Amino acid sequence: MYIDSHCHLDFSVFDKDRGDILKKCHHHDVRHFIVPGTRFKGWEKQSILSQEYSSLSMAYGIHPYFLNGEEFRSIDLLGGFCESNFTVAIGEIGLDIWPNSLPIDIQLAFFRAQLSIAKSLKLPVILHARRSYDILYKELKNSHFLYGGAVHGFSGSWVQAQRFIELGFVLGIGGNITYTRAKKSIKVIKELNSVDYVLETDSPDMPVFGKQGERNTPLNIPIVAQSISEIRQESIKDIAYQTSINVGRVFPSIVKGF
Ligand SMILES: [Zn+2]
Repeated sequence: MYIDSHCHLDFSVFDKDRGDILKKCHHHDVRHFIVPGTRFKGWEKQSILSQEYSSLSMAYGIHPYFLNGEEFRSIDLLGGFCESNFTVAIGEIGLDIWPNSLPIDIQLAFFRAQLSIAKSLKLPVILHARRSYDILYKELKNSHFLYGGAVHGFSGSWVQAQRFIELGFVLGIGGNITYTRAKKSIKVIKELNSVDYVLETDSPDMPVFGKQGERNTPLNIPIVAQSISEIRQESIKDIAYQTSINVGRVFPSIVKGF
C-alpha cells in the first residue's frame, strides 16, 4: 500500500469530490494521507475532515508562505489544539525565501515558536523549505530538536539530504522526480538509503510530468513511485512497502489512525 505523506486534501478545490478521490485512491492502493496545516483558519476544517475520513491524518501548523494575515497569538493555541485533536506532527512549518514572502525575521519567529511546541509535545515536524535548507538545518541543530519529521518536496543536494537524515528526518519525494530535468534530485534519490525517504504529491500543487496545468491528486502517487522505481532499479512494490514503513517510523502516532 502507498501513503501520500503530504497532500492538501482539506483545500476547497477538493470539496466537490473529496470522497470520490479517496475511493479511487483506495482502489489504486493509496490508502493513507497526511494533510498538513497551512493556516490557523483551516485547522477546524481539517479536524472535521479527519473525523469524517479515517484515512486522513492531520498535522497542524502555519505555513511560512501563508503568514500574511496570520496572527502570532494563533501559535499560543496550537499546542492546545493538537492535544485535543488527533495530530501526527506539527506542520507545515519552515521558511519560504521568495520575493513575495514576508521578511525572514517574521518567518523565523513563527518557525521557532512552532518548533518549540513540537518539542514540548514530542511531535515530529513537517518542514517546508524554499531556498532555506541550510538555515533550517542550523535552526534544528541549535535547538537540539530530537523528534525528526519529513522535509517536504526535497530538492536539495546530497550533503543537505545527509544533514537532515542525521537529524532523524526523511525526505519527501514528489512530482519533481518525474521530470528528467530534475537532475540533482534524481542523483540524490538514486543514492539514498531506502529507509530515508517517503512519497508525497503536495496535491493540488506540484503536478507530475505530463499533467502540468491539471489539479494534482494523491491518485498520482503510483506515478511518483514508478519514476523512483526506474531511477533506483527497484520494484514498485518494494518502494510502496518501504516508504509506508518509513512514514510509520517518522510519524509514530499515525498507526493509531489506521
Ligand atoms: Zn504543502
